[in-house]
Amino acid sequence: MVVIIKISLENEMDLILANKRCMKVAELLGLTIATQTTFATAVSEIARTVIDITNNGELDIGVVQKGQRHELAALVTFNSDLTLGKADEGVYYAQRLVPQFEMVRDGNLCRIEMKIGLPRSLNTNKVKLDYLKNYFKQEVPATPYEEIKRKNVALNQITAEQEEEIKRSKFIDDKKNEFISIASHELKTPLTVIKAYTQMALKAKDECSERVRQYLVKIDSQSAKLHDLVKQLLDISKAENGKLDYNMQTVSLDEFIAEMVSIMQNITPGHQLEFSVCSGVNISVDSLRMEQVFSNLISNAAKYSAKNTVINIVCTLSADKKNVTIAVSDQGIGMSEESIKSIFNKFYRAETVSNNYAGLGMGLYITAQIIKDHRGKIWAESEIHNGSVFYISLPCTVSR
Ligand code: ADP
Repeated sequence: MVVIIKISLENEMDLILANKRCMKVAELLGLTIATQTTFATAVSEIARTVIDITNNGELDIGVVQKGQRHELAALVTFNSDLTLGKADEGVYYAQRLVPQFEMVRDGNLCRIEMKIGLPRSLNTNKVKLDYLKNYFKQEVPATPYEEIKRKNVALNQITAEQEEEIKRSKFIDDKKNEFISIASHELKTPLTVIKAYTQMALKAKDECSERVRQYLVKIDSQSAKLHDLVKQLLDISKAENGKLDYNMQTVSLDEFIAEMVSIMQNITPGHQLEFSVCSGVNISVDSLRMEQVFSNLISNAAKYSAKNTVINIVCTLSADKKNVTIAVSDQGIGMSEESIKSIFNKFYRAETVSNNYAGLGMGLYITAQIIKDHRGKIWAESEIHNGSVFYISLPCTVSR
């Protein structure tokens, strides 16, 4: 059958629609008003019967070609364990109205086909059928109900496409995570061995030239960097799977920050680290993970600002003493509003830094995950060329 129009049969409103459409198709094919009405009435009878027992009916109106002859056809399909018989009123009348009536059941699927022959004089051909299909595609909805129904169909289609797209991107993301996880595990073992041998060589008492020693120092520091990157990659796959594990303990924030500043001052000797504390606040943290957070924020502050500038770390206690906010500010290159929206996304790097600064865009993503797992918040304020401030807010356990 060449289907001209499809109508789902769900409720009473669809009956009106089915009737109108049957009349219109028959009219456009050139049938008389009497035949239009006969066909539309037969279809309506079946549609009503189907709607009475189920809401999953489908009506296809179209034309069947048999050799040189054409027939106007309506096919109603539905799923139901109820069997319709000749005794059903709708079936009884429909059967009397159309010359060809066939009802077939296959399990729960029932098909009812009704056909009326089209006189040769109507000249039914492919061009006419294409015109009819287009006509109904473009025709404005006959009723507000039909308009809503069409919009629903379009919406369902969009939803289905989006679900498919989400499934596809989730699959790709899962594969990517799997790769990151396997690759980082595979990289970690040889790297640890390289690092261990380099350190053994550096500590060995055997004589070695100053030049070779310098090479070993370089291998040692570069493999440490590589080790950090691999660790970050592993953390990313752990964060994705919700497997970043925490060993929480209560620490004094002031002491924690003081120690962090002293460690980081050694790592970033080109910058001046200053800090002010909010005395007497305890926080519950996984120290190693929180060190990772501060190390990332402070090393970013150093990386994205000129040498000899100041990096400030300021703690502020909320009025109700329930939260503490720690601000890490620099006097560096700053960020655009657009960048600020994306910096906590995995692998994001601002266009302005991609070619000039080393990095992979993993640090802030992991940092944000760690802060979230500490029931805290992280955000940033910045302006291009005007430095950046990263804020972390954490719940306090006890304030002394
Ligand atoms: P990476 O520094 O390795 O690129 P991060 O995840 O730590 O990765 O940071 C993501 C991006 O956020 C950086 O690429 C940079 O564009 C921006 N960014 C982070 N910290 C700062 C900062 N202090 N100043 C300016 N831009 C920053």
